[in-house]
Amino acid sequence: MSDKLYTQTFSSNTRIFSEGDEGAIAYVIESGLVEISTIEKDKQVLLGTLTPGQLFGEMALINDEPRTATAIAIKDTVLTVISREQLTERLKNTEPMLRMLIRVIISRYRTSIGHTRKAGMLSQLNVPLPDDTMSEETQTVAIEKFRRENELREALLNKELLVHYQPLLNMQTGKWAGFEALARWNHPTKGTIPPSKFIPLAEETTLIISIGMYVLRQAIKDMITMQTERNKVLPDAPPLFIAVNVSSKQIADTGFIDKVARVVAETGFPPASLKLEITESMTSDYQLVINWASRCRELGFSIAIDDFGTGYSSMEHLLELEVDTLKVDQTFIKKMYQSSKAKKLVIGMVRLSKALGFSTVAEGLENKKEFNTLRAMSIEYGQGFYIAKPQSSKQIIEKLKKSA
Ligand code: C2E
Ligand code: MG
Ligand code: MG
Repeated sequence: MSDKLYTQTFSSNTRIFSEGDEGAIAYVIESGLVEISTIEKDKQVLLGTLTPGQLFGEMALINDEPRTATAIAIKDTVLTVISREQLTERLKNTEPMLRMLIRVIISRYRTSIGHTRKAGMLSQLNVPLPDDTMSEETQTVAIEKFRRENELREALLNKELLVHYQPLLNMQTGKWAGFEALARWNHPTKGTIPPSKFIPLAEETTLIISIGMYVLRQAIKDMITMQTERNKVLPDAPPLFIAVNVSSKQIADTGFIDKVARVVAETGFPPASLKLEITESMTSDYQLVINWASRCRELGFSIAIDDFGTGYSSMEHLLELEVDTLKVDQTFIKKMYQSSKAKKLVIGMVRLSKALGFSTVAEGLENKKEFNTLRAMSIEYGQGFYIAKPQSSKQIIEKLKKSA
Protein backbone atom coordinates (compact mmCIF):
# COMPACT_ATOMS: atom_id res chain seq x y z
CA MET A 1 0.00 0.00 0.00
CA SER A 2 1.22 3.51 -0.72
CA ASP A 3 -0.12 6.50 1.18
CA LYS A 4 -1.07 10.08 0.60
CA LEU A 5 -3.14 11.39 3.45
CA TYR A 6 -6.53 11.11 1.75
CA THR A 7 -5.72 8.67 -1.06
CA GLN A 8 -4.41 5.13 -0.71
CA THR A 9 -3.05 2.89 -3.45
CA PHE A 10 -3.12 -0.91 -3.24
CA SER A 11 -1.40 -3.17 -5.73
CA SER A 12 -3.17 -6.20 -7.18
CA ASN A 13 -3.99 -8.96 -4.66
CA THR A 14 -3.39 -6.99 -1.51
CA ARG A 15 -5.64 -6.87 1.49
CA ILE A 16 -7.33 -3.56 2.31
CA PHE A 17 -8.85 -4.78 5.55
CA SER A 18 -9.87 -8.05 7.16
CA GLU A 19 -13.07 -9.24 8.76
CA GLY A 20 -12.92 -8.53 12.50
CA ASP A 21 -10.52 -5.59 12.12
CA GLU A 22 -11.39 -2.37 13.83
CA GLY A 23 -12.76 -0.02 11.23
CA ALA A 24 -11.39 3.50 11.23
CA ILE A 25 -11.98 4.48 7.61
CA ALA A 26 -14.33 3.92 4.68
CA TYR A 27 -13.27 4.05 1.05
CA VAL A 28 -14.45 5.15 -2.36
CA ILE A 29 -12.91 3.33 -5.31
CA GLU A 30 -11.29 5.78 -7.72
CA SER A 31 -9.83 3.10 -9.99
CA GLY A 32 -9.32 -0.66 -9.81
CA LEU A 33 -11.45 -3.49 -8.46
CA VAL A 34 -12.20 -4.67 -4.91
CA GLU A 35 -13.55 -8.02 -3.80
CA ILE A 36 -15.61 -8.19 -0.62
CA SER A 37 -15.75 -11.59 1.04
CA THR A 38 -16.50 -13.21 4.37
CA ILE A 39 -15.65 -16.43 6.16
CA GLU A 40 -18.36 -19.03 6.53
CA LYS A 41 -17.56 -22.39 8.07
CA ASP A 42 -13.83 -21.81 7.47
CA LYS A 43 -14.44 -21.04 3.81
CA GLN A 44 -14.04 -17.62 2.16
CA VAL A 45 -17.36 -16.66 0.55
CA LEU A 46 -17.44 -13.92 -2.08
CA LEU A 47 -20.10 -11.27 -1.36
CA GLY A 48 -19.46 -9.05 -4.33
CA THR A 49 -17.02 -7.20 -6.54
CA LEU A 50 -16.95 -3.43 -6.36
CA THR A 51 -16.00 -1.08 -9.17
CA PRO A 52 -14.93 2.60 -9.40
CA GLY A 53 -17.34 5.08 -7.78
CA GLN A 54 -18.52 2.59 -5.15
CA LEU A 55 -18.26 3.08 -1.41
CA PHE A 56 -17.31 0.37 1.09
CA GLY A 57 -16.20 -0.06 4.69
CA GLU A 58 -18.69 2.52 5.99
CA MET A 59 -20.63 0.15 8.26
CA ALA A 60 -17.87 -0.26 10.85
CA LEU A 61 -17.58 3.50 10.99
CA ILE A 62 -21.23 4.19 11.57
CA ASN A 63 -21.85 1.85 14.47
CA ASP A 64 -18.30 1.46 15.73
CA GLU A 65 -18.13 -2.33 15.44
CA PRO A 66 -15.55 -4.61 13.80
CA ARG A 67 -15.48 -5.12 10.01
CA THR A 68 -18.05 -7.69 8.87
CA ALA A 69 -16.11 -8.63 5.74
CA THR A 70 -12.68 -8.69 4.14
CA ALA A 71 -11.76 -6.36 1.27
CA ILE A 72 -9.06 -7.27 -1.24
CA ALA A 73 -7.80 -5.25 -4.18
CA ILE A 74 -7.84 -7.64 -7.11
CA LYS A 75 -6.31 -5.12 -9.52
CA ASP A 76 -4.06 -2.16 -8.82
CA THR A 77 -6.51 0.07 -6.96
CA VAL A 78 -6.67 3.71 -5.90
CA LEU A 79 -9.01 4.59 -3.04
CA THR A 80 -10.23 7.86 -1.59
CA VAL A 81 -10.27 7.71 2.18
CA ILE A 82 -13.22 8.81 4.31
CA SER A 83 -12.38 9.09 7.98
CA ARG A 84 -14.65 8.34 10.92
CA GLU A 85 -14.62 12.06 11.81
CA GLN A 86 -15.77 13.06 8.33
CA LEU A 87 -18.62 10.56 8.36
CA THR A 88 -19.76 11.30 11.90
CA GLU A 89 -19.71 15.04 11.19
CA ARG A 90 -21.99 14.50 8.20
CA LEU A 91 -24.25 12.22 10.23
CA LYS A 92 -24.43 14.79 13.03
CA ASN A 93 -25.80 17.28 10.53
CA THR A 94 -28.61 14.98 9.42
CA GLU A 95 -32.06 14.75 10.92
CA PRO A 96 -32.00 12.76 14.23
CA MET A 97 -34.75 10.54 12.78
CA LEU A 98 -32.62 9.65 9.76
CA ARG A 99 -29.62 9.05 12.00
CA MET A 100 -31.63 6.62 14.07
CA LEU A 101 -32.88 4.84 10.94
CA ILE A 102 -29.35 4.40 9.57
CA ARG A 103 -28.16 2.87 12.84
CA VAL A 104 -31.19 0.57 13.13
CA ILE A 105 -30.84 -0.64 9.54
CA ILE A 106 -27.12 -1.35 9.95
CA SER A 107 -27.61 -3.16 13.21
CA ARG A 108 -30.42 -5.31 11.68
CA TYR A 109 -28.21 -6.01 8.67
CA ARG A 110 -25.41 -7.17 10.98
CA THR A 111 -27.80 -9.40 12.94
CA SER A 112 -29.25 -10.94 9.80
CA ILE A 113 -25.75 -11.61 8.38
CA GLY A 114 -24.90 -13.28 11.72
CA HIS A 115 -27.98 -15.57 11.51
CA THR A 116 -27.35 -16.42 7.86
CA ARG A 117 -23.73 -17.19 8.60
CA LYS A 118 -24.72 -19.51 11.47
CA ALA A 119 -27.12 -21.32 9.15
CA GLY A 120 -24.31 -21.74 6.60
CA MET A 121 -26.39 -19.92 3.98
CA LEU A 122 -24.16 -16.95 3.13
CA SER A 123 -22.81 -18.52 -0.04
CA GLN A 124 -26.39 -18.94 -1.35
CA LEU A 125 -27.44 -15.45 -0.41
CA ASN A 126 -26.93 -12.58 -2.75
CA VAL A 127 -26.11 -10.10 0.01
CA PRO A 128 -26.90 -6.60 -1.22
CA LEU A 129 -23.88 -4.33 -1.09
CA PRO A 130 -24.47 -0.99 0.61
CA ASP A 131 -24.60 1.31 -2.40
CA ASP A 132 -26.86 -0.89 -4.57
CA THR A 133 -29.82 1.15 -3.45
CA MET A 134 -28.35 4.59 -4.29
CA SER A 135 -29.20 6.27 -7.54
CA GLU A 136 -26.16 7.09 -9.62
CA GLU A 137 -26.83 10.81 -9.26
CA THR A 138 -27.10 10.75 -5.45
CA GLN A 139 -24.00 8.61 -5.27
CA THR A 140 -22.00 10.98 -7.47
CA VAL A 141 -23.05 14.07 -5.49
CA ALA A 142 -22.37 12.44 -2.13
CA ILE A 143 -19.01 11.04 -3.10
CA GLU A 144 -17.92 14.19 -4.90
CA LYS A 145 -18.45 16.10 -1.65
CA PHE A 146 -16.12 13.78 0.23
CA ARG A 147 -13.54 14.11 -2.54
CA ARG A 148 -13.71 17.90 -2.50
CA GLU A 149 -13.56 17.94 1.27
CA ASN A 150 -10.44 15.76 1.18
CA GLU A 151 -8.89 17.97 -1.45
CA LEU A 152 -9.52 21.00 0.75
CA ARG A 153 -8.03 19.25 3.80
CA GLU A 154 -4.99 18.40 1.73
CA ALA A 155 -4.80 22.02 0.49
CA LEU A 156 -4.75 23.32 4.04
CA LEU A 157 -1.88 20.98 4.92
CA ASN A 158 0.01 21.85 1.71
CA LYS A 159 -0.34 25.58 2.38
CA GLU A 160 -2.35 26.13 -0.81
CA LEU A 161 -4.71 28.47 1.08
CA LEU A 162 -3.74 32.10 0.89
CA VAL A 163 -5.04 35.23 2.52
CA HIS A 164 -5.67 38.36 0.48
CA TYR A 165 -6.42 41.76 1.93
CA GLN A 166 -8.95 44.30 0.80
CA PRO A 167 -8.37 47.84 2.09
CA LEU A 168 -11.08 49.72 3.96
CA LEU A 169 -10.83 53.43 3.38
CA ASN A 170 -11.46 56.09 5.97
CA MET A 171 -14.01 58.01 3.91
CA GLN A 172 -13.27 61.30 5.60
CA THR A 173 -9.45 61.32 5.55
CA GLY A 174 -9.06 59.33 2.32
CA LYS A 175 -6.45 57.04 3.98
CA TRP A 176 -6.53 53.29 4.38
CA ALA A 177 -7.88 52.48 7.84
CA GLY A 178 -7.57 48.71 7.79
CA PHE A 179 -8.13 45.57 5.74
CA GLU A 180 -10.49 42.64 5.46
CA ALA A 181 -8.77 39.24 5.30
CA LEU A 182 -10.25 37.10 2.52
CA ALA A 183 -9.32 33.48 1.95
CA ARG A 184 -8.20 32.25 -1.48
CA TRP A 185 -7.31 28.76 -2.66
CA ASN A 186 -4.27 28.67 -4.89
CA HIS A 187 -5.07 25.33 -6.56
CA PRO A 188 -2.10 23.63 -8.28
CA THR A 189 -4.08 22.93 -11.48
CA LYS A 190 -7.29 24.99 -11.28
CA GLY A 191 -5.67 28.34 -10.39
CA THR A 192 -7.19 30.71 -7.83
CA ILE A 193 -10.45 29.46 -6.37
CA PRO A 194 -12.69 32.10 -4.68
CA PRO A 195 -14.05 31.53 -1.16
CA SER A 196 -17.61 31.11 -2.44
CA LYS A 197 -16.42 27.81 -3.97
CA PHE A 198 -14.89 26.30 -0.82
CA ILE A 199 -15.99 28.16 2.34
CA PRO A 200 -19.59 26.79 2.20
CA LEU A 201 -18.17 23.24 1.92
CA ALA A 202 -15.82 23.89 4.85
CA GLU A 203 -18.76 25.27 6.82
CA GLU A 204 -20.63 21.99 6.42
CA THR A 205 -17.92 20.35 8.51
CA THR A 206 -15.57 21.41 11.28
CA LEU A 207 -12.94 22.08 8.61
CA ILE A 208 -13.99 25.74 8.80
CA ILE A 209 -12.53 25.81 12.33
CA SER A 210 -9.04 24.91 11.05
CA ILE A 211 -9.35 27.16 7.98
CA GLY A 212 -10.63 30.03 10.13
CA MET A 213 -7.70 29.70 12.54
CA TYR A 214 -5.26 29.49 9.65
CA VAL A 215 -6.66 32.69 8.10
CA LEU A 216 -6.61 34.47 11.46
CA ARG A 217 -3.02 33.49 12.25
CA GLN A 218 -1.83 34.47 8.78
CA ALA A 219 -3.77 37.75 8.86
CA ILE A 220 -2.28 38.77 12.20
CA LYS A 221 1.21 37.84 11.04
CA ASP A 222 0.83 39.83 7.80
CA MET A 223 -0.79 42.74 9.60
CA ILE A 224 2.20 43.09 11.92
CA THR A 225 4.46 43.41 8.84
CA MET A 226 2.05 45.76 7.06
CA GLN A 227 1.76 47.95 10.17
CA THR A 228 5.56 48.11 10.50
CA GLU A 229 5.87 49.25 6.88
CA ARG A 230 3.13 51.82 7.31
CA ASN A 231 4.77 53.20 10.49
CA LYS A 232 7.85 53.91 8.43
CA VAL A 233 5.96 56.22 6.07
CA LEU A 234 3.13 57.51 8.28
CA PRO A 235 4.37 57.24 11.88
CA ASP A 236 1.56 59.39 13.31
CA ALA A 237 -1.34 57.73 11.52
CA PRO A 238 -3.82 55.73 13.63
CA PRO A 239 -3.09 51.97 13.73
CA LEU A 240 -4.53 49.84 10.94
CA PHE A 241 -7.13 47.22 11.81
CA ILE A 242 -7.69 43.77 10.41
CA ALA A 243 -11.17 42.33 9.93
CA VAL A 244 -11.49 38.53 9.86
CA ASN A 245 -14.66 36.64 8.89
CA VAL A 246 -15.98 34.19 11.47
CA SER A 247 -18.47 31.37 10.78
CA SER A 248 -21.12 30.05 13.13
CA LYS A 249 -19.26 26.75 13.68
CA GLN A 250 -16.30 28.75 14.98
CA ILE A 251 -18.55 30.58 17.41
CA ALA A 252 -20.02 27.28 18.57
CA ASP A 253 -16.50 25.90 19.10
CA THR A 254 -15.85 26.65 22.77
CA GLY A 255 -12.08 26.69 22.36
CA PHE A 256 -12.05 29.17 19.46
CA ILE A 257 -12.00 32.46 21.27
CA ASP A 258 -9.27 31.30 23.67
CA LYS A 259 -7.17 30.25 20.69
CA VAL A 260 -7.64 33.71 19.17
CA ALA A 261 -6.67 35.31 22.50
CA ARG A 262 -3.53 33.14 22.59
CA VAL A 263 -2.48 34.14 19.05
CA VAL A 264 -3.00 37.80 19.91
CA ALA A 265 -1.02 37.49 23.15
CA GLU A 266 1.82 35.48 21.55
CA THR A 267 2.27 37.90 18.67
CA GLY A 268 1.78 41.06 20.71
CA PHE A 269 -0.89 42.18 18.25
CA PRO A 270 -3.05 44.99 19.70
CA PRO A 271 -6.47 43.41 20.48
CA ALA A 272 -8.22 46.66 19.58
CA SER A 273 -6.95 46.27 16.00
CA LEU A 274 -8.75 42.94 15.54
CA LYS A 275 -12.29 43.04 14.20
CA LEU A 276 -14.32 39.86 13.91
CA GLU A 277 -17.02 39.87 11.22
CA ILE A 278 -20.13 37.83 11.81
CA THR A 279 -23.23 37.55 9.62
CA GLU A 280 -26.83 37.87 10.65
CA SER A 281 -27.77 34.45 9.39
CA MET A 282 -25.59 32.69 11.94
CA THR A 283 -27.76 33.30 14.95
CA SER A 284 -29.80 30.14 15.39
CA ASP A 285 -28.43 29.81 18.92
CA TYR A 286 -28.80 33.43 19.81
CA GLN A 287 -27.66 33.18 23.44
CA LEU A 288 -24.44 31.52 22.32
CA VAL A 289 -23.64 34.44 20.01
CA ILE A 290 -24.47 36.99 22.72
CA ASN A 291 -22.10 35.30 25.20
CA TRP A 292 -19.44 34.94 22.53
CA ALA A 293 -19.68 38.62 21.58
CA SER A 294 -19.36 39.82 25.15
CA ARG A 295 -16.31 37.57 25.65
CA CYS A 296 -14.77 39.15 22.52
CA ARG A 297 -15.41 42.60 23.95
CA GLU A 298 -13.78 41.61 27.27
CA LEU A 299 -10.70 40.60 25.32
CA GLY A 300 -10.70 43.94 23.52
CA PHE A 301 -11.73 42.76 20.02
CA SER A 302 -14.34 44.60 17.96
CA ILE A 303 -17.27 42.97 16.24
CA ALA A 304 -18.80 43.88 12.90
CA ILE A 305 -22.10 42.68 11.51
CA ASP A 306 -21.29 41.71 7.93
CA ASP A 307 -23.70 41.81 4.98
CA PHE A 308 -26.16 43.79 7.10
CA GLY A 309 -29.71 43.67 5.83
CA THR A 310 -29.44 40.31 4.06
CA GLY A 311 -30.05 38.02 7.03
CA TYR A 312 -32.96 37.77 9.37
CA SER A 313 -33.85 38.99 12.87
CA SER A 314 -31.34 41.79 12.33
CA MET A 315 -33.06 44.23 14.68
CA GLU A 316 -32.88 41.69 17.49
CA HIS A 317 -29.14 41.53 16.88
CA LEU A 318 -28.79 45.23 17.33
CA LEU A 319 -30.73 45.11 20.55
CA GLU A 320 -28.72 42.43 22.33
CA LEU A 321 -25.36 42.01 20.63
CA GLU A 322 -22.43 44.15 21.66
CA VAL A 323 -21.22 45.15 18.22
CA ASP A 324 -19.12 48.07 17.00
CA THR A 325 -19.57 48.16 13.26
CA LEU A 326 -22.29 47.61 10.76
CA LYS A 327 -21.40 46.70 7.19
CA VAL A 328 -24.12 47.71 4.73
CA ASP A 329 -24.31 44.87 2.22
CA GLN A 330 -23.26 45.48 -1.36
CA THR A 331 -26.59 44.33 -2.82
CA PHE A 332 -28.25 47.54 -1.56
CA ILE A 333 -25.41 49.74 -2.82
CA LYS A 334 -25.57 48.07 -6.26
CA LYS A 335 -29.30 48.73 -6.58
CA MET A 336 -29.21 52.34 -5.32
CA TYR A 337 -29.56 53.87 -8.79
CA GLN A 338 -32.17 51.50 -10.16
CA SER A 339 -34.39 51.57 -7.13
CA SER A 340 -35.25 54.56 -4.97
CA LYS A 341 -36.30 52.03 -2.32
CA ALA A 342 -32.77 50.58 -2.24
CA LYS A 343 -31.33 54.07 -1.79
CA LYS A 344 -33.78 54.81 1.02
CA LEU A 345 -32.80 51.55 2.67
CA VAL A 346 -29.11 52.51 2.50
CA ILE A 347 -29.90 55.92 4.03
CA GLY A 348 -32.00 54.21 6.71
CA MET A 349 -29.29 51.68 7.56
CA VAL A 350 -26.62 54.37 7.80
CA ARG A 351 -28.83 56.48 10.11
CA LEU A 352 -29.66 53.48 12.25
CA SER A 353 -26.00 52.56 12.59
CA LYS A 354 -25.08 56.12 13.58
CA ALA A 355 -27.97 56.40 16.03
CA LEU A 356 -26.78 53.26 17.78
CA GLY A 357 -23.24 54.61 17.99
CA PHE A 358 -21.70 52.09 15.56
CA SER A 359 -19.24 52.84 12.82
CA THR A 360 -20.55 52.13 9.35
CA VAL A 361 -18.88 50.43 6.40
CA ALA A 362 -20.32 50.56 2.89
CA GLU A 363 -19.44 47.33 1.08
CA GLY A 364 -19.01 46.93 -2.66
CA LEU A 365 -18.34 50.51 -3.78
CA GLU A 366 -17.66 49.95 -7.46
CA ASN A 367 -17.69 53.46 -8.96
CA LYS A 368 -17.23 57.14 -8.25
CA LYS A 369 -20.98 57.83 -8.09
CA GLU A 370 -21.55 55.24 -5.36
CA PHE A 371 -18.43 56.38 -3.55
CA ASN A 372 -19.48 60.06 -3.52
CA THR A 373 -23.04 59.26 -2.48
CA LEU A 374 -21.87 57.21 0.49
CA ARG A 375 -19.21 59.73 1.45
CA ALA A 376 -21.90 62.41 1.51
CA MET A 377 -23.74 60.27 4.08
CA SER A 378 -20.72 60.75 6.38
CA ILE A 379 -20.03 57.06 6.85
CA GLU A 380 -16.71 56.10 8.42
CA TYR A 381 -15.42 53.44 6.03
CA GLY A 382 -15.77 52.38 2.42
CA GLN A 383 -14.77 49.07 0.85
CA GLY A 384 -15.03 48.11 -2.80
CA PHE A 385 -13.31 47.63 -6.12
CA TYR A 386 -13.42 51.42 -6.73
CA ILE A 387 -11.11 51.85 -3.73
CA ALA A 388 -9.01 48.70 -4.09
CA LYS A 389 -9.45 45.01 -4.88
CA PRO A 390 -8.36 42.26 -2.48
CA GLN A 391 -4.64 41.62 -2.98
CA SER A 392 -1.63 39.88 -1.45
CA SER A 393 0.19 41.34 1.55
CA LYS A 394 3.19 41.86 -0.72
CA GLN A 395 1.17 44.06 -3.08
CA ILE A 396 -0.32 45.94 -0.12
CA ILE A 397 3.15 46.58 1.30
CA GLU A 398 4.33 47.98 -2.05
CA LYS A 399 1.42 50.43 -1.99
CA LEU A 400 1.94 51.33 1.66
CA LYS A 401 5.55 52.22 0.91
CA LYS A 402 4.39 54.69 -1.74
CA SER A 403 1.64 56.22 0.38
CA ALA A 404 3.66 58.78 2.36
P1 C2E B 1 -17.60 39.21 2.73
O1 C2E B 1 -17.04 38.94 4.08
O2 C2E B 1 -18.82 40.04 2.66
O3 C2E B 1 -16.42 39.87 1.89
C1 C2E B 1 -16.59 40.83 0.89
C2 C2E B 1 -16.67 40.20 -0.46
O4 C2E B 1 -17.06 41.18 -1.41
C3 C2E B 1 -15.32 39.67 -0.95
O5 C2E B 1 -15.58 38.59 -1.81
C4 C2E B 1 -14.81 40.85 -1.80
O6 C2E B 1 -13.86 40.47 -2.76
C5 C2E B 1 -16.12 41.27 -2.43
N1 C2E B 1 -16.08 42.67 -2.88
C6 C2E B 1 -15.44 43.70 -2.30
N2 C2E B 1 -15.65 44.82 -2.99
C7 C2E B 1 -16.43 44.51 -4.04
C8 C2E B 1 -16.98 45.26 -5.14
O7 C2E B 1 -16.79 46.46 -5.28
N3 C2E B 1 -17.76 44.57 -6.01
C9 C2E B 1 -18.00 43.24 -5.89
N4 C2E B 1 -18.75 42.66 -6.79
N5 C2E B 1 -17.48 42.51 -4.87
C10 C2E B 1 -16.71 43.13 -3.96
P2 C2E B 1 -14.79 37.22 -1.69
O8 C2E B 1 -13.35 37.46 -1.36
O9 C2E B 1 -15.12 36.42 -2.89
O10 C2E B 1 -15.45 36.56 -0.41
C11 C2E B 1 -16.79 36.17 -0.40
C12 C2E B 1 -17.24 35.76 0.97
O11 C2E B 1 -16.58 34.58 1.40
C13 C2E B 1 -16.94 36.80 2.04
O12 C2E B 1 -17.90 37.83 1.98
C14 C2E B 1 -17.05 35.95 3.30
O13 C2E B 1 -18.39 35.78 3.64
C15 C2E B 1 -16.51 34.61 2.81
N6 C2E B 1 -15.10 34.47 3.24
C16 C2E B 1 -13.96 34.89 2.66
N7 C2E B 1 -12.88 34.55 3.39
C17 C2E B 1 -13.36 33.93 4.50
C18 C2E B 1 -12.75 33.36 5.67
O14 C2E B 1 -11.53 33.38 5.87
N8 C2E B 1 -13.59 32.80 6.60
C19 C2E B 1 -14.96 32.79 6.43
N9 C2E B 1 -15.71 32.22 7.38
N10 C2E B 1 -15.56 33.32 5.35
C20 C2E B 1 -14.78 33.88 4.41
MG1 MG C 1 -16.69 40.02 5.61
MG1 MG D 1 -19.79 41.37 3.41
